[in-house]
Amino acid sequence: MNRYIVFLKQVPQSTHVEIDPVTQTLKRSSALSQTNPDDLYALQAALDLKRTTQAEVVAVSMGPASAETVLREALQRGADRAILVSSPAFAGSDTWCTSLTLAAAVRKIGTYNLLFFGRMAIDGDTAQVGPEVAGQLDIPQITNLITIEKQDEAGLHVRRMAGRMQQSLIVQLPCAIMVSRENGSLACPTLSGWRRAQQQTIIRWDEHDLSIEPSTVGLHASPTQVASTTVPQHTKDIRWITQGSELTALLHTILQPQPTHAYEFNTLFCPASSKRPLHRMRTLCRHVCLQRHSC
Ligand code: FAD
Repeated sequence: MNRYIVFLKQVPQSTHVEIDPVTQTLKRSSALSQTNPDDLYALQAALDLKRTTQAEVVAVSMGPASAETVLREALQRGADRAILVSSPAFAGSDTWCTSLTLAAAVRKIGTYNLLFFGRMAIDGDTAQVGPEVAGQLDIPQITNLITIEKQDEAGLHVRRMAGRMQQSLIVQLPCAIMVSRENGSLACPTLSGWRRAQQQTIIRWDEHDLSIEPSTVGLHASPTQVASTTVPQHTKDIRWITQGSELTALLHTILQPQPTHAYEFNTLFCPASSKRPLHRMRTLCRHVCLQRHSC
């Protein structure tokens, strides 16, 4: 039987993020959470392909107990079963330890044809986990996917971006695919799907189920430690300029050498009646921008 395994991560809603000042990891309990957006498109790609292959779709998430919500959503959208990989031993894992744990889950699930990952999680932002799991399992991987065309005896037929070119590939199975929001559209979840999802049991596996030695996973086993996380501060200074002389004075000021500042001219506003000054200001501004870029 064909089997597709889809990996979904619970991530904070981006405007509600708190960082633990000691471990520099996300305080997941304090954050409102959601399913990582790319992962929903990965699930949709698996469900779309399932229509022609009748594959079983297994949803997997690694995270705290609250990550069940993500799996419940996957079941509601059409996954056949769901597995939560969860234990205090996994807490604080970097991408290496995460991929090691997810690869162990794949081995425990057994035979499979395709692994579906989102391209990138919106909290860690590394886009490493999918390729790393493929590496751990020694299977081919498809990154920069454009579309999946079909699956047949020869393998999976896909199109992907390769720099500025598109490639058509036939990839032998099993293989891993990274899917992003640009790859298709999501079907709406249904009420009957929601009802079905409420009745299904989510399987839970910990380090013992996966035969993982606890000292090889989690924060302390992680080769990457996030030293600090900060949000860059941007300041914007927007002024309305109605007079040509004002613009000249402003340009004169900002063109003084100030190596720590970068200027960007986006839009010039001018009274609709004064077409010629607007034209002059645009020309002047373009000239100034060119000068600025060339110095
Ligand atoms: P990505 O590699 O971006 O995720 C790609 C795909 O893999 C996802 O779309 C999903 O399909 C799948 N996936 C990822 N995690 C899970 C999961 N837990 N369960 C199911 N599927 C999953 N770690 C590092 O090694 N290096 C860093 O530089 C680093 N920086 C970080 C910065 C911040 C602010 C935070 C919060 C974490 C950082 N981490 C880093 C830790 C990293 O987020 C975790 O290791 C995480 O479990 C996996 O990495 P990611 O979020 O970057 O996933």
